[in-house]
Amino acid sequence: NQQVILKDYVNGLPKESDMLLKTSSTILLKLPQGSNGVLVKNLYLSCDPYLCCLMSKSQPIAGLGVAKVVDSGHSNLKKGDLVWGWTGWEEYTIITAPDALFKIQHTDVPLSYYIGILGMHGMTAYYGFYEICAPKKGEYVFVSAASGAVGQLVGQFAKLTGCYAVGTAGTNEKVELLKNKFGFDEAFNYKEEQDLDEALKRYFPEGIDIYFENVGGKMLEAVLLNMKTNGRVSVCGMISQYNLNEEEGMRNLSHIIMKRLHMKGFIVGDHINLYPKYMEMAIPLINEGKICYIEDIAEGLESAPAALLGLFSGKNVGKQVVVVAHE
Ligand code: NDP
Repeated sequence: NQQVILKDYVNGLPKESDMLLKTSSTILLKLPQGSNGVLVKNLYLSCDPYLCCLMSKSQPIAGLGVAKVVDSGHSNLKKGDLVWGWTGWEEYTIITAPDALFKIQHTDVPLSYYIGILGMHGMTAYYGFYEICAPKKGEYVFVSAASGAVGQLVGQFAKLTGCYAVGTAGTNEKVELLKNKFGFDEAFNYKEEQDLDEALKRYFPEGIDIYFENVGGKMLEAVLLNMKTNGRVSVCGMISQYNLNEEEGMRNLSHIIMKRLHMKGFIVGDHINLYPKYMEMAIPLINEGKICYIEDIAEGLESAPAALLGLFSGKNVGKQVVVVAHE
């Protein structure tokens, strides 16, 4: 059983060399006698920024994945079933709390979508945009990390709602995707802007109604200056802040008060009850071609550490997936 493990605890962002591909001597072909868990073969793993905060020393990295049941002691799951949920960065995993797994019902879409548009990332975009921002037709929406796993969906949801959507990303290739693939009205490369406040004033001369926050830091400082009164900020993530060793104070927070902003953070796992409602919306949108999803596929467990760390330098174009096995 090959596994990706963290060699030792680290301060800040781990390096690729802090993670090790190890072959464990345990051969997992069957569950231990009397287990009511499930043994799964991992197929696709999700690279997510928060994983770096969750790693445990000498353990396979834990994260979301799509897997196939190989042996089951659970009444609702049987050998051959496809599931998505919390698993390990290894070829085979014993899942001791299988109630938390989702059985995959629709197999007419790429299975990797269940760690993207049809999984946690889709739900995050859905909850953070519709439930927190309550968007209305004609409103002005800004999305950061807009070509990523979550951002690309927020932009498309904004367009389906009839909003004006502007996205930002860190390369010109991503900016082209935003405009030509995801249908953003405008997009810009934030790394090429000297002054983010000036850039936002160019794209939103009348101000921003809705900001979907993925990055924090200087981008949020500039956005706060450009929010309209009664605007809404969905605080999904702040990737620029996760691995800072010293806290750098953020500016312009008083605009939250003066502009009566509704700024709300959320953890998608608290709203998983809305997953069936989200699936009812998402499956027809995919099947009718009204929404698209771009993935960045890394082949093999050995490619997982670099794929994970690439999220922090913007190497990924779209949702970062690691293929462990093709069924
Ligand atoms: P992405 O697929 O968007 O990958 C991360 C992207 O962030 C990179 O590609 C890069 O794109 C951008 N980025 C990296 N470092 C910086 C930086 N210092 N400044 C600005 N941009 C940066 O990731 P996800 O879509 O999976 O996640 C987006 C955000 O949502 C993250 O902050 C994540 O933690 C959060 N999240 C929150 C959840 C919740 O429940 N609240 C659930 C899931 C995700 P670029 O080239 O544009 O710089």
